[in-house]
Formats: sequence, structure tokens, C-alpha cells
Amino acid sequence: MKQPQEVDIAVLGAGAAGMATALFLAENFSVKPAAGSPPTICLLESAKKIGAKILVSGGGRCNLTHKIVTPNDFYGERNFIKKVLKALTVEKTVRWFSSLGIETKVEPTGKRFPVSNRAQTVLSAFLEKLAEANIPIFREHLVSAVNVVDEHFLVEHSSGSLRAKHLVLATGGCSLPKSGSNGHGLKIAQHLGHSVSDLLPALTPLVLQNSFGHGEIKGTSQEVSLSLFRDNKLQQRFSGPLLWTHFGVSGPVVLDISRHWNIAKQQDQTVRIEANFLPSYDDQKVTRWLTDSRTSGSSKFLKNILQEKLPKRFVALLLGRLGLPEDQRLAQLSKQKQKELLLSLLHLELPIVESRGWNVAEVTAGGVTLSEVNPTTMESKICPGLYFTGEILDVDGRLGGFNFQWAWSTAKVAAEAITQKWAASAKRG
Ligand SMILES: Cc1cc2nc3c(=O)[nH]c(=O)nc-3n(C[C@H](O)[C@H](O)[C@H](O)COP(=O)(O)OP(=O)(O)OC[C@H]3O[C@@H](n4cnc5c(N)ncnc54)[C@H](O)[C@@H]3O)c2cc1C
Repeated sequence: MKQPQEVDIAVLGAGAAGMATALFLAENFSVKPAAGSPPTICLLESAKKIGAKILVSGGGRCNLTHKIVTPNDFYGERNFIKKVLKALTVEKTVRWFSSLGIETKVEPTGKRFPVSNRAQTVLSAFLEKLAEANIPIFREHLVSAVNVVDEHFLVEHSSGSLRAKHLVLATGGCSLPKSGSNGHGLKIAQHLGHSVSDLLPALTPLVLQNSFGHGEIKGTSQEVSLSLFRDNKLQQRFSGPLLWTHFGVSGPVVLDISRHWNIAKQQDQTVRIEANFLPSYDDQKVTRWLTDSRTSGSSKFLKNILQEKLPKRFVALLLGRLGLPEDQRLAQLSKQKQKELLLSLLHLELPIVESRGWNVAEVTAGGVTLSEVNPTTMESKICPGLYFTGEILDVDGRLGGFNFQWAWSTAKVAAEAITQKWAASAKRG
């Protein structure tokens, strides 16, 4: 398609939020005669390949929302988030996906995926519907600047420029920069008068000191509870699966707590994370368990007792770290070593060196300041005609499909508001 020099609505960024915004607009203008003659819409995208992040999401399966979504699943201003989520609830989201031909299912974790188990199903449906609605995506169109000229947005991009009446900034944050989301959209927002809160990678794995020995048990996964202490005060506790990797730790519980570790580090606070490898046990319960095991079979090997509740490879690592032989019998375990064992099982400080950073972060903490955006329209309070959808805003969700829900819900709000504005201006003639 020939690239236009003037459109009614330009959406910058063809990620989850940008494509959803354009799809909701297309639906509105195909079913609402009150909206007047349909506006011209296009998407500008810097990447060559559309939807890279959708394709890698949820391990290639796209965890597109959760069984239940509440404002408490997000970090950001509660009331703002509540209003946005209300506009497109989980039930409505599921119906919307179904209308696009994507049936979904909830897994025991509460995560919702396409029945096909393929993220490609989502991307293909989006692209197909956009093509049906004649909404072009101009790929390899890196937007370098936006200025307001004569009540229009003048968008400078790598292949020229474009004038638009309405502009949707859906350029994401800084996570996974190789996908095209490198934070440039946030600079555009700042140039248009917006403030941007501190940006930090969230939902990241954590790197441990090599000497810890995690490399020996890479691939092992186990249920843990992680507690984060800032200046020796307990701040956060998360429970769930932890995955040992060649560099350190990953898995849902690590990704969820990483945000808080990254913030504390940035603020230069003393921060530590303690792991409890028997989440339903406390000191007393472990002592009782070991005492009972001692009396029920004094010749038992310690490793066999620990393996009743912990992965074999982790037990081997633990014994090695405590300097205990493989054939250590529980009956011969000294009081001092039992104390050390208890500490390692319930209060082991993870020797974290750093977070894995933007290159693997699933989401950006921080973004366009919410007080400068109207939550019932997603329109800027500073620059009329400018809208924000998705990760560019100062909201990030925990792991489990919440960040995509944020993209869909903000897209819905913005599309409704733009449609109404368009209809009102069409009425005025
Ligand atoms: C590995 C990984 C797995 C994930 N898994 C899940 C999951 O299963 N469930 C979930 O809910 N969330 C998941 N997320 C998070 C989720 O993908 C994001 O929150 C969501 O994609 C944000 O959508 P967005 O459209 O706002 O931003 P993005 O998806 O980042 O899209 C922004 C788009 O704008 C383009 N762009 C940026 N700047 C410019 C510019 N100057 N000019 C033109 N185009 C530009 C970018 O190229 C990009 O295509 C995952 C993220 C990652 C990295």
C-alpha cells in the first residue's frame, strides 16, 4: 500500500497494544453508523517483523490474560487501573478473542492461553483482521519525532513524514529492546510535554555468584517462598516455582520478586532475598520433622530424608555446601550442622550479583505518569488528541497474563474515546 501523507488516526507501534487499538477502532467504525464516515487509520512500526514479543510470550504460547484480574495484580495508581480494567474485563476480553476466532482456556495456575497453545494464532488473527479492515501496518518505519503543528501531529519517520489528527502512542517500554521497544516512544511522550517516572526492568531472572554452585543443578525446578528484606525489614514475600539456571535463578517466583530487588538496588538500599525451600514449614516444624525421622530410623541417610521433600539434585548441592558427605547419617549429624541445615532450608540468602536486565525483562516498571492521562479516555491531559495504550504507561503487572490484559484494556478505552470524538466532530460537520 502506498504510504499516505495524511491520516485521521496514526497508531505508533504495532505491538499488542497498538494492534488491539486499531482492531477496536475498526470494529467501532464497522458497526456504529453514528460514528459517521470511517476515519483513515494506519500503524507505524519500526521493526521488520511484526509481533516479535507476542510470539515469544508465555513460552511461545501467549498467556493473554488471567482467570481473575484485579487492580491488585498491578503496580501503579489503583483507581486509574480500576477504571481501565472495568472497560474491558476478563469476560469481555475472552469474548473479544472468541470473536477473532481465538478460543482460550484457563490452566491450573490461572493463566489463560489460546486453545491452540500457539502465540502465532493470536498474531495471525490480529494481522488478518487488520488486513480485512484495510488498516495498513507500515513496517520499518521508525518514528524519530512528533510535533504538534496546526492542531495536527506531524510524525517524522524513517521514510518521510505523516500528518495525523489523532495520535496513539503504543510504543511500549524498554523491555526486550531487540524487538523494537527501546524506550524511544517515551522520549516522544516527553517531547510532547509528558513526564516519565523512573524506568526499571521488571520480571527478570537474577544472576547469582558463580561459587554458589547453581550451575550444577541447572534445569531443576522446585517450590519455594522468597522473602525480600530492605534495610533488614521484610518488604515482600512471594511463593511459587523457582528454576535453577546456568547463571542463577529464574521461574515465576523470581520474576515476580525481581522488580522489588531492582528498585531497592537502584535506590541504593541494602537488600537481600532469603529462600525457604520448604514453604509450608517453619523452624519448629523442620526441627520436629528431623527429630521424628531420627527416632523412626536412626540409620537413615540424611539425603534420603531430605529427598522426601526436595529435588535430588538440590539435596546434593545443599549437602555439598554444608560440607556433609553423601552418606551422612541423620543420627550422626551434629547439633551445629543441624542448625546450619535448618538455616539453609528455611533462610538461605541468595548471593545475587545483578538482574539480567532489559534484554530479558518481560516488562518495564515506570513510564508515562498516570496523573497526566485521563483514565476514562487514555487521552493526554497535556496534549489534546494524543492517546496512550499499553506498556508505555507507568503500570506493570505481575506474571500471569496481566501485562497483556493491560494492553487490551487500555486499547479498548482509547478506541472508544477516539470513536466518540470522531462521531461528535462528524455530527458538527
Ligand atoms: C519474553 C517475554 C514474554 C512475555 N510473556 C508475556 C505473557 O505471556 N503474558 C503477558 O501478559 N505479558 C507477557 N509479556 C509482556 C507483554 O509482552 C508486554 O507487556 C506487551 O507486549 C506490551 O505491549 P505494547 O504493545 O504496549 O508494547 P510492545 O509489545 O513493546 O510493542 C511496542 C511496539 O512499538 C514499536 N516501536 C517502539 N518505538 C517505536 C518507534 N520509535 N517507531 C515505531 N515503532 C516503535 C516496537 O517495535 C514494538 O513493536 C512478555 C514479555 C516478554 C519480553
